[in-house]
Amino acid sequence: MEIDMQNLLGVMVAPMDADNPAVHRYNSLCFHCGSCKWTCMDQAGVLGRYNLEKTGGNAVCIYCGQCANECPGFAMNEREEYPAVKEAIAAHGKVVIASTSPAVRASISEEFGLGVTFSQGKLVALLKKLGFDYVLDTNFAADLTIVEEATELVSRIKNGGTLPMFTSCCPSWVRYAEIFYPRLIPNISSVKSPICMQGPIIKTWFARNAGIDPKSIVNVAVAPCTAKKYEIRLPGRDSALGNGTPDMDSVITTRELAKWAREAEIDFASLEDMDYDSLSGTGAGAIFGATGGVMEAALRTAYFYLNGVNPPEDFMELKPIRGLEDCREAEIDLGAAKLNVAVIYGTANAGAFIDRMEESGKAYHFIEVMTCPGGCSGGGGQPKGFVIKGGIPDAKRVNALFSRDKSMALRLSHENPEIKALYRELLGEPGGEEAERLLHTAYVDRSAVLTGAKL
Ligand code: SF4
Ligand code: SF4
Repeated sequence: MEIDMQNLLGVMVAPMDADNPAVHRYNSLCFHCGSCKWTCMDQAGVLGRYNLEKTGGNAVCIYCGQCANECPGFAMNEREEYPAVKEAIAAHGKVVIASTSPAVRASISEEFGLGVTFSQGKLVALLKKLGFDYVLDTNFAADLTIVEEATELVSRIKNGGTLPMFTSCCPSWVRYAEIFYPRLIPNISSVKSPICMQGPIIKTWFARNAGIDPKSIVNVAVAPCTAKKYEIRLPGRDSALGNGTPDMDSVITTRELAKWAREAEIDFASLEDMDYDSLSGTGAGAIFGATGGVMEAALRTAYFYLNGVNPPEDFMELKPIRGLEDCREAEIDLGAAKLNVAVIYGTANAGAFIDRMEESGKAYHFIEVMTCPGGCSGGGGQPKGFVIKGGIPDAKRVNALFSRDKSMALRLSHENPEIKALYRELLGEPGGEEAERLLHTAYVDRSAVLTGAKL
């Protein structure tokens, strides 16, 4: 294994190993400004929590990419996968499918100098123009995540399960907990993230309905996130076809997609809007890209499962947990139960919250943690230059997603007609055997990375 000498020398950079699956630093372009180092310490809360002498010079990393976002030059970037995706599109016999994450449509326009504009139709058109055979919406799998996660939350509440339950859709947060708080592994929801649900559903149900040989499918997630590049390659992410065949083959970030479009000389502004081919999401899926969105979406469906009726109109905007402060707490009345909830972004903030929670003994039921500022809207693969003033991220991307939710007729994940059809035709019941096989996972104590193991 190649050891980065800058790690050992402790110069003004965030330590980074050459085999990092998500982020890469071109040392020759680095002018040692220290931005990545401070970001890793203050925001990710990783650097400063481990000792390079104890790890033998190995970096500890949760793959969030925030260091790349903060790099003022071109030294740090995501590991690019779009060249391999281009090759798959050019190859014969492959069916190449793009699935777009919630946050990408509210930020891709920034890459083309158009400011924050909700650009879902142009995003679909761009992917079609680049040669994808199908363009699908990961908001669909966000709805699926909510149905499974709300089922799990309600089951834990009713059956005396481990509480608080933490959300699991942010792979950097999950890795942070596995390394620094492995005692909390039973508290993390077992549901896979939307991208890791979208993959197996495409290679089973969608393939069957569309008459495609699933072995010919190349699944590509278009995401705001660098950590997804690590997550899709974790063991067990082959639940559709088994034998190590990945459910999701590649992840390209918003920045990578824009770079590819510029290379292809596509004028984004003049693209005519297009619709997704299939697999659409509700408003609840749309807000996954915003801090607090997963919590709100899950509570809407948990309300339905607990009371047998949909939540009232005023429940569709949970003001106590809206906003951009990095830690918001509230007691939410779900009719049949009152829940203490918290919404946090930034893993450094999450670590401080957990320490406070354990010290105070306060009983929480449900906690959302996202690593990036403002949630996935501020993801490590998003357009750079995301403004953060006084520690608070700019509201535009987040507001674009909440506005989209408000404008939609369907705002409850359990009412998504394609989700209902999926359970009817393939999965059976939420939380049932087939759902468990395709949509759930288990976590690993990775604290040994603090003493040099590669995990
Ligand atoms: S990706 Fe995140 S955890 Fe890794 S070095 Fe960068 S800021 Fe630190
Ligand atoms: S908050 Fe979103 S973009 Fe950031 S690491 Fe987590 S999943 Fe990825």
